[in-house]
Amino acid sequence: MEAVPQVRFQVVAECSHTRARAGLLHTPHGTVETPVFMPVGTQATVKGLTQRDLDREVGARILLANTYHLYLRPGHELIRQLGGLHRFMGWPHAILTDSGGFQVYSLSGLRKITEEGVLFRSHLNGDAHRFTPESTVDVQLALGSDILMALDECPEYPVSREYARQSMERTVRWAAAAFRHYAELERRDGGAPRGELFPIVQGSTFPDLRRECALRLAELDAGGYAIGGLSVGEPRPLSLEMVEACEPLLPAGRPRYAMGVGMPEELPEYVARGIDMMDCVLPSRNARNGCLFTRTGRVIIKQSRYRDDPRPLDEECACHTCRNYSRAYLRHLFQAGEILYSVLATLHNLRRYADIMRQLREAILGGTFPECLAALHSEPPEAA
Ligand SMILES: [Zn+2]
Repeated sequence: MEAVPQVRFQVVAECSHTRARAGLLHTPHGTVETPVFMPVGTQATVKGLTQRDLDREVGARILLANTYHLYLRPGHELIRQLGGLHRFMGWPHAILTDSGGFQVYSLSGLRKITEEGVLFRSHLNGDAHRFTPESTVDVQLALGSDILMALDECPEYPVSREYARQSMERTVRWAAAAFRHYAELERRDGGAPRGELFPIVQGSTFPDLRRECALRLAELDAGGYAIGGLSVGEPRPLSLEMVEACEPLLPAGRPRYAMGVGMPEELPEYVARGIDMMDCVLPSRNARNGCLFTRTGRVIIKQSRYRDDPRPLDEECACHTCRNYSRAYLRHLFQAGEILYSVLATLHNLRRYADIMRQLREAILGGTFPECLAALHSEPPEAA
């Protein structure tokens, strides 16, 4: 029996001057409007927010969760026993999980990459583990993700061209192995409903390697494609250039996901280059560290000029934080180290990101995306 695709992407409008497009990503847990920014819920929680706030206040319809962390703790088998990640964390909408590869490379000091996969030690207790292209599919299926990522190697920046090529070729072989395994499971289960597997384009900062990787992964005819290895320390214009190199070679009717980007001012740049999905810890992490994003620029809340500032963080923001609290109150909470500060700040930053994405989507639908792009460029970096 042929498996019915559970994830389907529909392009509903395209900008005639840039590569930007607006779409609908249909998943087993609802439809996501694109372009979309996905909040990061590393440990099956977006730090500081309840799922209710993410749903109602931020309007999130898809979250990212980290396979590496959930595999180590509490363990994917436990989550499977408890009905999968959606039920476990009480999140009714879509979930995308990464392959775990990126965390292995960034968190685990001891690791060894072989043709079969990657051996690593847990950053929690030093236990030895192995991820293979097949095992990371199994872990993500146990979690019940709507969108799964194929295991890739994310090389650090910079690397030699020779290493970047070897690593890219390994990523292509691993992706093929993950897809074979996934197809085999599908045949075995008679096409039981499951999420969609995306391969990841790598190739470091070499445009020709990026293009070759995209072409070879396109042969997999995947339901969507990710572009990885961005925001690993390379200059930001180079990240955009890598997207420009590979994006035209990816199937037009499939969603493209730029992993780990970006700053608020970068979101429109990625959208203009044909990106439909993004994720980053930046809005939530910066919120906790006291950096808030507003329509009139950045607010560093600890600054003394906010001590007696009665204005909301962002006069035009409709989030719970901006509707109810002043900059002075937020600064007080921050200075006092109160938990509520993190809650209110994270809520605002994620809402700001969601608002930017909605604004971009509406502009694409209304045919005014180039004007919107120009207007977002002229926003000052620091709020008055
Ligand atoms: Zn707000």
